[in-house]
Amino acid sequence: MTRVAFIGLGHMGMPMARTLLKAGHALTVYDLSAPAVAALVEAGAAPAASPAAAARTAATVVTMLPAGPQVRAVYLGPEGVLAAAPPGTLVIDCSTIDVATARAVSAAAADAGLEMVDAPVSGGVAGAAAASLTFMVGGSDGGFARARPLLAAMGKAVIHAGAAGAGQAAKICNNMLLGISMIGTCEAFVLAERLGLAPDKLFEIAAQASGQCWSLTAYCPVPGPVPASPANRDYAPGFTAAMMLKDLTLAQGGGAPTPLGAAAAALYGQFVEGGGGDTDFSGIITMLRRRGAP
Ligand code: NAD
Repeated sequence: MTRVAFIGLGHMGMPMARTLLKAGHALTVYDLSAPAVAALVEAGAAPAASPAAAARTAATVVTMLPAGPQVRAVYLGPEGVLAAAPPGTLVIDCSTIDVATARAVSAAAADAGLEMVDAPVSGGVAGAAAASLTFMVGGSDGGFARARPLLAAMGKAVIHAGAAGAGQAAKICNNMLLGISMIGTCEAFVLAERLGLAPDKLFEIAAQASGQCWSLTAYCPVPGPVPASPANRDYAPGFTAAMMLKDLTLAQGGGAPTPLGAAAAALYGQFVEGGGGDTDFSGIITMLRRRGAP
């Protein structure tokens, strides 16, 4: 197995890196958080002092960072990946970021003689821990073919979305749909409460009727019907409302008429402003429930 440099060891990156270690890859890791690096060193990884130092050691670099500015810093900064990675290195950015940044960093990587793909994920922390993520990949056919085996070790589906940035485009479209469907699902439960319909009955019926969707049957925002959903743990994340707001904001920058996407971004903005940022995104039901009738 080849050595992989893994940069960004947060909620997602930590379990993804652990999966690669378990699969037998040698890992060099870097994160701003010393405890995160220490936890991976404990598990068998080698530490690096900068993104450049990590990239120098490896044939493949994987990054899992919060947003576009961190991706720019890690790739383009003075101690960044592009300054040090040997020509021919495969670089895979799994962060969710804006399409323009993904394309700009990919072009800079190509100028440095590297092969880059954007490969954002769906499946959350549970999917990362279970190695059952879905990867949506933007890049050349050759880049996709090279990245696929490593991504397949961390996921259940690896889909080539198109050229550089297409993975990010797919992720942003998917998460706008998810944000809208979660708010719709929450509104249906709040309406049921006001109408005197038991939540488990709404679940049983809608799950077998035309209201069925992932937000209802895989991630139900009320406790009970789906034991694994964050509603059963007082909305501990999971996928935070702040991250959902980030993705909905990216969608608003896409130049398409998306009135429901705009409404979802505004509602998540209010939820985050009211202190819900670290709550799971399904916790927005608590804000809707508090509101009086229109
Ligand atoms: P996180 O904030 O938990 O982790 C980010 C990590 O990056 C942290 O450990 C942080 O210290 C590190 N970091 C930040 N700046 C850095 C820098 N300059 N150099 C090195 N390390 C740096 O975030 P997360 O939940 O792991 O999410 C990561 C990405 O995955 C985000 O883009 C998010 O939108 C996406 N995503 C998250 C989920 C989820 O459920 N959490 C699901 C799908 C996609």
